[in-house]
Amino acid sequence: MTNPETLLRRFHTPFRWDNVERRPYKDDDSAPFKAIARQVLFAEPELGCELRYFEMDAGGHSTLERHEHVHAVMILRGSGHCLLGENVRAVQQFDLVSIPAWTWHQFRATAGTPLGFLCMVNTSRDRPQLPDAATLAHLRTIPDVAAFLD
Ligand code: MN
Repeated sequence: MTNPETLLRRFHTPFRWDNVERRPYKDDDSAPFKAIARQVLFAEPELGCELRYFEMDAGGHSTLERHEHVHAVMILRGSGHCLLGENVRAVQQFDLVSIPAWTWHQFRATAGTPLGFLCMVNTSRDRPQLPDAATLAHLRTIPDVAAFLD
């Protein structure tokens, strides 16, 4: 039986929801990231997907990774930049970002403010891959990407 208390979780600033735990970005430190936290807003077995809210402090970043599963992202707080494949794009509040399968991606809070986004993802998904040295070296030959990574 569903607990009625969980059917409506009110938003309260700064970007927290009732009875939603604020957790580390990832449960292990096997991948590099900086100053980022995770809140799982919805994890409904009937939907087969989860909606998470990630937020990084100014200067923080998510892991540079790729995987078979896709992401649907809405920027909800602040602005910054994201890497999508070999392109760096500026993003701001309410922008929508689609991340296709096997596309390198990373978000960075480059604007001196926190950057927060909703991320929809399959419940059952493959484990992210990290770039090897050759991939990183290739990405760094692209001036915009090199500047983004440093
Ligand atoms: Mn990802």
